[in-house]
Amino acid sequence: MATHPKPHVVVLGGNFAGLGSAQKIREYAGDRVEITVVDKKSNLLFVPNIPAEVFANHDPALSMFMDIIKPLDHDGIHFIQGEVTGIDPDNRTVDYVPSERPGSESHVLRYDYLVVAVGNRLAYDRIEGFAEYGHTVSDTYHGNLLRRYLPQEYRGGHIAIGSARFHQGNGAEGVEPYPGGRIPPAEAACEGPPVETMLAAATWLQEQGKGGPKNITVFTPAEIIAEDAGETVVNQLLGIAGSMGFGYLNKTEDIARLTKDGIEFTNGASLEAEVKIIFPDWVPHDFLRNLPISDNEGFVVTDLLMRNPSYPEVFAAGVDIAIAPPAATPVPAGVPKTGQMSEAMAKIAAQNIAADITGGAAKRMPLSELAAFCILDAGGSGIIFRADHVLGTSKHAHVMSGPQAHWAKIAFERYFLASRKHGMTAL
Ligand SMILES: Cc1cc2nc3c(=O)[nH]c(=O)nc-3n(C[C@H](O)[C@H](O)[C@H](O)COP(=O)(O)OP(=O)(O)OC[C@H]3O[C@@H](n4cnc5c(N)ncnc54)[C@H](O)[C@@H]3O)c2cc1C
Repeated sequence: MATHPKPHVVVLGGNFAGLGSAQKIREYAGDRVEITVVDKKSNLLFVPNIPAEVFANHDPALSMFMDIIKPLDHDGIHFIQGEVTGIDPDNRTVDYVPSERPGSESHVLRYDYLVVAVGNRLAYDRIEGFAEYGHTVSDTYHGNLLRRYLPQEYRGGHIAIGSARFHQGNGAEGVEPYPGGRIPPAEAACEGPPVETMLAAATWLQEQGKGGPKNITVFTPAEIIAEDAGETVVNQLLGIAGSMGFGYLNKTEDIARLTKDGIEFTNGASLEAEVKIIFPDWVPHDFLRNLPISDNEGFVVTDLLMRNPSYPEVFAAGVDIAIAPPAATPVPAGVPKTGQMSEAMAKIAAQNIAADITGGAAKRMPLSELAAFCILDAGGSGIIFRADHVLGTSKHAHVMSGPQAHWAKIAFERYFLASRKHGMTAL
């Protein structure tokens, strides 16, 4: 096991939260730290623009990957391409297996600070019938299956788009941040993508002369779709969607199974559909379960410093966390799983690690960062919304629709990838 003369910060994961954390730690702590990023692959996948690429009939694999080895090297950050298999918080070690070639031996890495940013498993394997009858746009492989299906095999039938039930852990249990009671746990992990996909699919149908919004139903396990954006935003979104003719089905509870002819839900409802575009449960990786840093599902518990309350040298950022804010703080327990918020968390984790090392002041996540900000690209047009605070608590919300949404999303992707490529953080 290598020893390091400087504090050694190990960052697990190299996508939004991981790469962002590593680059920000270098920016804030300078050369006072050694930094190592461990990811099982050596590229960043820019997930948010996969749906737009698919419906524009562009291969997302050609545009949505970015090498991370060179940007990390530019900042003097070590990179290990390895699959993390365990964390031992008491001994401050991480187990990993080099993942360039199968069959590698296991190694142990020692850390002084750890940032856990490994995302989640998107659990398509738990949805009966998905392999045979389902589609999705959450990675380039599945995106390309749909991209080929639409022009070649689509018979003009109904399109159903929606989420399976999300299982939030107890990481924030007992926290009652708002007067009047606890904020209910999220029932869907991330519903910007289904809404965006619904808009993009409608544009595609119209452009192909195969229909439009009336051919599409969007469904949600929750009381309202995109509940994390808050009622103000959702009511406006539903107003826009309803007037365009989209179908809407709520409180489906969970997906029981996909069949050739449609979707059966656990609440007994069903939906006929030729195309089923599904967003699954977001499940923590197995190696995070039953650890003293994790909640009962395996989400890493942090406070608003992105620091684990029991192991202060362990930080977490991105979608693998459960934020447990102190009581009476107007922040929801657990936050929506957006890339934008993953970036904000990475920055706070980096500031606090740097503060520990340089003797600076601790930095709490500003409440303004825990806002729901979304750009929904419908292809040529779209919707941008921002809601202060999250999980239905928003008092101030802004919704805007038009071509600027399409261009904003493309511009953000270009800016993000270009700046990261040159070893700069985007935000
Ligand atoms: C279709 C779709 C559209 C979306 N659109 C938007 C959007 O418009 N705006 C927005 O803000 N968010 C959007 N999101 C959400 C966004 O993609 C996530 O919030 C973001 O990817 C989370 O970043 P992360 O770094 O926490 O996790 P991830 O992006 O999942 O990265 C985790 C990293 O950890 C690595 N890893 C995992 N396990 C291991 C292991 N055992 N060992 C080593 N490495 C490991 C992975 O290889 C990966 O690089 C969208 C999501 C989807 C599915």
